[in-house]
Amino acid sequence: TARQEASRASSDAGTSPPVLRAFVDGAFVDSAGASWDKLDPVDGSVRARVQEADAALVDRAVRAARAALDGAWGAAPVAQRAALLRRVADRIEERFEQFARAESADTGKPLAQARELDVPRAVANFRAFADTIAAAGQPSFLTDLEGGRQALNYAVRKPLGVVAVIVPWNLPLLLLTWKVAPALACGNTVVVKPSEQTPTSAALLAEVLAESGLPAGAYNVVHGFGPASAGQFLTEHPGVDGVTFTGSSATGSTIMRAVAPRVRPVSFELGGKNAAVVFADADLELTLAGLARSVFANTGQVCLCTERVYVERPVFDEVAAGLADRAGALRLGRPDDPATTTGPLISAEHRAKVLSYYRLADEQGAETLVGGNVPVLGGGLDHGSWIEPTLWTGLTNADRPMREEIFGPCAALVPFDTEDEAVRLAGDTDYGLASAVWTTNLSRGHRVAQRMRVGLSWVNTWFLRDLRSPFGGVGLSGIGREGGAHSLDFYSELTNVCVAL
Ligand code: NAD
Repeated sequence: TARQEASRASSDAGTSPPVLRAFVDGAFVDSAGASWDKLDPVDGSVRARVQEADAALVDRAVRAARAALDGAWGAAPVAQRAALLRRVADRIEERFEQFARAESADTGKPLAQARELDVPRAVANFRAFADTIAAAGQPSFLTDLEGGRQALNYAVRKPLGVVAVIVPWNLPLLLLTWKVAPALACGNTVVVKPSEQTPTSAALLAEVLAESGLPAGAYNVVHGFGPASAGQFLTEHPGVDGVTFTGSSATGSTIMRAVAPRVRPVSFELGGKNAAVVFADADLELTLAGLARSVFANTGQVCLCTERVYVERPVFDEVAAGLADRAGALRLGRPDDPATTTGPLISAEHRAKVLSYYRLADEQGAETLVGGNVPVLGGGLDHGSWIEPTLWTGLTNADRPMREEIFGPCAALVPFDTEDEAVRLAGDTDYGLASAVWTTNLSRGHRVAQRMRVGLSWVNTWFLRDLRSPFGGVGLSGIGREGGAHSLDFYSELTNVCVAL
């Protein structure tokens, strides 16, 4: 049974290194394909051996999802789906520490962060979408016809179908559940392809969903990479009815091409090159604390992270010095050390990319206020993918480090003189995910926040989310909005019924 399989997977975790397998039709299954070593970003050791799903296994997963859609899960009433999501939330809480440790182990992020952010948000995602689907209704319209007759129009909500869920490595469980919870709430079945860097929490979630009573086949996991691997096999599979994807803009573009021949809907949460705008009237203590979080949280590996900081000239030096102090106070270290604030980057490859921007900033004449290099930490950590938190001045919007998403713990500070100039500089980007405005002038806060060409515009805060509100980006940052009723729109098809009365 799924439960026996689930406990077998758990007991694998006791040996070193554990083997991670696909989860298809309610059971963990072996793949005939290759395996790869999942390395620990903290010290480069082998964390797990992951079995790559080949095309045949991806096909099995899609067929299992189709059968569950046509069977038990597709027929489940709303109340049953909502109750299941609530049980899932409860069970994640029961296994809270296991999830926190798995998430921290895959990413190298501080255990404290996994406990405070990643796992609680996964729980909240399931509860929020249980509430949303339970309360969801549809408007109806009485249409006046000639001769005093009327017609009644109402729409019925149906699942989109078999949904491919493809997620990245930075907030693996949070971003996975942000999509799986609404997809299941709407009666869909899913095939999940977690990032090759962070395969563990998707497999743990399989155990929890099975224990909570989700029918076999409604949630499947295939491990693998993107091109010529599980990601491509899944997005090109004719049995997939839609793709929900969080990741880089370049991969989003590839996935659009993959689904184009079959004209399938996509929901894309992509990259960012997010701006913060600090006015001279800002509460500088609040602002510096907020900026430090928005630049350095999760080692800068959050799509919402600030990489461009525009500061009104009278407070430029003070903000630059204050932020540099805060960068200097960050503590790089092992995830289970309570003093650690900052983990490594996800991989050696990603560090090479971030470091290439550090070098580019040097070449383009930036002044490095803090950081700029690979730290020497000792204690075995030097085989990990560590990097120094870094701040620059002296760059302009024309420079590549100001235009391209770096996805590291770094930002450039640039002065401005007028509100219009700040809005123009912040909007001068191909991306459009998030922005943050820091000011004590309420009117200006609203005014500037509304003018930002982004999906998420914060004032005097960052990363604060109400899960009912729309989440997504403009431009290279994505297509569509998820969150609350917006998620229901993507994960449903509506059939309008028109009855002549
Ligand atoms: P990525 O695009 O390299 O990979 C994301 C996922 O897509 C992985 O599971 C990967 O295996 C898969 N993939 C890669 N190529 C594929 C292909 N051809 N077909 C199908 N699947 C494929 O991104 P990443 O490096 O894992 O994540 C970092 C990126 O994610 C950053 O750009 C970041 O801004 C973005 N991100 C966006 C949000 C958001 O909500 N907007 C949130 C987090 C991260």
